[in-house]
Amino acid sequence: MDDKTSEKGSEVCPKCGSPLGEVFETKSGKKLQRCSKGSWNPETHTIDGCIYVKWLEVEPVTLDEKCPKCGAPLLSVVTRFGKKMKKCSTATWDSATKIAGGCDYVEWIKGITEQLDEDCPKCAAKLVLFTTAAGKKLKKCSTATWDPGTKTAGGCDYVEWLRS
Ligand SMILES: [Zn+2]
Ligand SMILES: [Zn+2]
Ligand SMILES: [Zn+2]
Repeated sequence: MDDKTSEKGSEVCPKCGSPLGEVFETKSGKKLQRCSKGSWNPETHTIDGCIYVKWLEVEPVTLDEKCPKCGAPLLSVVTRFGKKMKKCSTATWDSATKIAGGCDYVEWIKGITEQLDEDCPKCAAKLVLFTTAAGKKLKKCSTATWDPGTKTAGGCDYVEWLRS
C-alpha cells in the first residue's frame, strides 16, 4: 500500500476498493460519482467495469427571492428524482421525530414556455417552446390547452420533442 493521498482518493468504492472518480453533473442538475474502475459505454449502453455509482446530495442554492409567506430567502432545491423546487430557507426537518418545522412554503418549478416564430405544421398557429423542469425541450402548438378540472387536452395536439 502506498500512502499517497490525492484529492479524490479520500473515498473508495465499497464494491471493489478503487478510488472514486470525479464528480459528474447530469443535465437535470443531479450529481454523481462513479467508481474509477467503471465507465459508461455509449455503444452498448452499459457500464464497463465496476458499476458502483454514488449519488451526491445537491446543495441547495439560496435565491435572490423572498418567501411570500414569511419574507425569508428562498432556496432552490433539486430532489433525488431531478425535480426542482423552491422552498423557504427557514424550513426544518427533524429526522428523529419526522416533524417539519419552520415555514412550509414550497413552490414546484414546472417549466418555461417561450413563444416561437414558427408555424404549427398541423394547424398553422404559432408554436411554443416548452422547457421542462428537468431541462427537456419540446415544441408544441400554442393552441393546445389543458383543462385540469376535466383532465382533458384540447386544441391542437402537435408535439415535437427536441434532442439536446
Ligand atoms: Zn468499484
Ligand atoms: Zn417562509
Ligand atoms: Zn397546431
